[in-house]
Amino acid sequence: MLKIFNTIYCLYMDNFDKEESIRIKIGNLLASLGFLISNFYAFLYLFYFDSILAFLLSEFFAFSYLLYFYFVSKMQLLKARLIFFITFFFQMFVIVVFFASSKSGVQYYCLLVPATSYLLFQEEKNIRLFISLIALALLVSFQFIGTTYCLFEINENIFNFLYFFSILFTFIILMLLFSIFVEEIRVREERLEYLAKIDPLTKILNRRAFYDSSENIIKFSNRHGNQIGLSLFDIDNFKKINDTYGHDIGDYVLRELTKELSPIIRESNYFARIGGEEFVILLINISKDELEIFNEKVRKLVEKISLKTSTNEEVKFTISIGSTIYIKNESFTSFLKRADIAMYKAKELGKNRVVSIFNIND
Ligand code: GH3
Ligand code: MG
Ligand code: MG
Repeated sequence: MLKIFNTIYCLYMDNFDKEESIRIKIGNLLASLGFLISNFYAFLYLFYFDSILAFLLSEFFAFSYLLYFYFVSKMQLLKARLIFFITFFFQMFVIVVFFASSKSGVQYYCLLVPATSYLLFQEEKNIRLFISLIALALLVSFQFIGTTYCLFEINENIFNFLYFFSILFTFIILMLLFSIFVEEIRVREERLEYLAKIDPLTKILNRRAFYDSSENIIKFSNRHGNQIGLSLFDIDNFKKINDTYGHDIGDYVLRELTKELSPIIRESNYFARIGGEEFVILLINISKDELEIFNEKVRKLVEKISLKTSTNEEVKFTISIGSTIYIKNESFTSFLKRADIAMYKAKELGKNRVVSIFNIND
């Protein structure tokens, strides 16, 4: 049963991006609840009140809710959601005016509308407002509308029973909506955090995230004495690659370079793009010798990368690496600066090489 529910809940979710998929889930949930609750009332009308007309009308509404799924499957979200609300309002109207009057408490389902319309129409502010106002108008006017044409006799006990179910269902749906709402906020926060940290082109850390992490690592190293290595590198003659093959190939080079290097960088270390074609690798708990070996490995690996353009031209490139080890109690800026000076030395010495500076006086 739960499995079926989960399948319906997640229906068509994969057709949309992450943020929209939460809204799809909310819509699915509401439409299926609309379907179930309408059936609940339909059978009540049929078996308890002996009213075939009320039963048929309720079944009509139940199937109208299914139309929502039809339009979502066609990716017509706005239509799907509008059909859901139109069905809902029409159903409220028919129930209150013709079946059960406001004594049944059915009008309290209108309380769900502002929350649901906010979740489903996040972009469409006017639609949201319009739908919420209709709900408010219905809620208020239902309070004054008596039963104009009663399809069946309802005694006080049954009214109490209906009233109780209206409140119960409203409460349960509100609870579900708020749990989804909280989930949506969490997903958005995660996404924002991710966007703030990650470079969109290469999907590695960006400059800001690298600076933030490094500051913390340095504090940790000052306290615990871990040796930290830094390798800063810049692609050689990158401007020429852009000029010769175009900016797209330049981007391709940046992406492939990151893809090739990522596997040799341990999870505990940090790899970031801090400029256009400038990268850094921060290595924790590394000796000078290990750092030298690592740098050479990186340089050679990049030298071996060979890319093909759409016209089958081979693109090759190299990098110049400047490297250093953190000196206790120095600032992050001076640490980075030393690696930068080393990198410029490597460029001066003819590029495609590693230069390390281990002392301030080097
Ligand atoms: P050097 O060997 O001295 O580093 O020479 P270079 O040509 O690599 O250095 P320069 O700083 O003159 O050129 C860097 C170029 O990188 C300039 C800029 O157009 C290009 N660039 C910066 N960011 C991007 C990017 O995101 N994509 C592409 N395709 N090019 C970029
Ligand atoms: Mg360069
Ligand atoms: Mg540069």
